[in-house]
Amino acid sequence: MSESTEYDVVIVGGGLIGATLALALEHLPLRIALLEAVAYESDAQPSFDDRAIALGRGTRRTFEAIQIWSDLCDVINPIEKIVVSEQGRFGKAHLSAQEEGVDALGHVVVTRKLGQILIERLPRAKNLTFICPAEVTSIELSDDAAEISLANGQRLVSSLLVAADGASSSVRQMLQVGKTVHDYGQRALVTNIATTEAHKNSAYERFTADGPLALLPMSQHRTAVVWTIDAAVAEQRMQWSEQMFLAELQKIFGYGLGEFKHIGKRVSYPLRLVRSAELTRHRTLFVGNAANSLHPVAGQGFNLGVRDVACLAELIQRSTQLGKNWLGSEAMLSKYVALRRSDHRNIVALTDGLAKIFVTDFGLLAHSRGLGIQAFDLMPPMKRLFARHAMGQAGALPKLLRGVALT
Ligand SMILES: Cc1cc2nc3c(=O)[nH]c(=O)nc-3n(C[C@H](O)[C@H](O)[C@H](O)COP(=O)(O)OP(=O)(O)OC[C@H]3O[C@@H](n4cnc5c(N)ncnc54)[C@H](O)[C@@H]3O)c2cc1C
Repeated sequence: MSESTEYDVVIVGGGLIGATLALALEHLPLRIALLEAVAYESDAQPSFDDRAIALGRGTRRTFEAIQIWSDLCDVINPIEKIVVSEQGRFGKAHLSAQEEGVDALGHVVVTRKLGQILIERLPRAKNLTFICPAEVTSIELSDDAAEISLANGQRLVSSLLVAADGASSSVRQMLQVGKTVHDYGQRALVTNIATTEAHKNSAYERFTADGPLALLPMSQHRTAVVWTIDAAVAEQRMQWSEQMFLAELQKIFGYGLGEFKHIGKRVSYPLRLVRSAELTRHRTLFVGNAANSLHPVAGQGFNLGVRDVACLAELIQRSTQLGKNWLGSEAMLSKYVALRRSDHRNIVALTDGLAKIFVTDFGLLAHSRGLGIQAFDLMPPMKRLFARHAMGQAGALPKLLRGVALT
């Protein structure tokens, strides 16, 4: 049997969240290992693909603190306005960066491009061992450590194990931690289109009888499309010709951005709310999609995971001051749960509520939805609260979310 190597923190899953956490810890005097199953270059890489996601303000601050925001400047696009509307109904709500007194409500990035920047930075982190591809075969928990065995015979022993291995977390399965799953019976159909009119940095969320349609601004005449529809319908639409697909999108959205042309590759994702039944196990905690995998209707999943990262990184930093006995201790794990629970609960309620309300199409409910959107536009405090959530600024903020680096 091979000898084991000791680490302070082992992160399983080097996707968007695991890689962000590893970089957040790069200046701490700790030994960190990051284990990723699928190489960045592989078409099967599940975290870094063609989907465009909206980054909130807290995520931006975190990327500023870990010094990758300037590298992202060429591949992101600001969102200066969000227009929420419902097909065929009266209601329309607006959120604007100007009203909120900020330069942008968020920024749009394709996860493959974000991933490239994160992955290229990993080798510069001197305290980090990045193992990829890595297949975890077993995890043993003892009083003072987690022992992780890999298929290649390597063994790692760590004070703290962080599961950042996504919605189907194998750490969760190996440790027999339960989960709750709600299948929305929908798929998110993702692509990008060229439009004849410039988007002027506006994002659109349009609720249709089929489900919500989000358009996110990319380069000047290019717009990302996230179309949430019934799973069976999505299957059919994946087979449609480009012309048919564009014509249907145009019919639903209208001509606010001129004509829709030149569609990109279409990809579809099953939509489920998956929550880990526990946020921690002995010496172990769950972050990002391994903790909560959300419906993408409000663009919150990654931003919520970055807030997990910011909170956890600060707790890990504390262990360098309080003594390493604190790292992975029950006291530290309980603190993580206490700090993260209400944000998780609020964002799950927000996205799950929106997902359920806006897929229902019954007369009275549909009518009150329209009124709801209109009322929302007339109620600045509620709008402001929503905008602050969308930007990732609600609640007390850990250092990274304020743009302050951990040293
Ligand atoms: C259509 C769509 C649109 C979205 N839009 C937004 C948005 O606008 N804003 C937003 O904030 N969020 C959005 N999200 C959510 C966001 O994409 C996720 O929250 C984010 O990808 C979660 O990152 P993660 O690293 O936790 O998990 P994942 O992205 O699932 O990454 C997990 C990583 O772990 C690796 N892994 C898995 N098992 C193992 C193992 N046993 N050993 C080692 N490695 C392993 C995987 O290979 C992968 O790299 C959207 C999601 C979808 C589907």
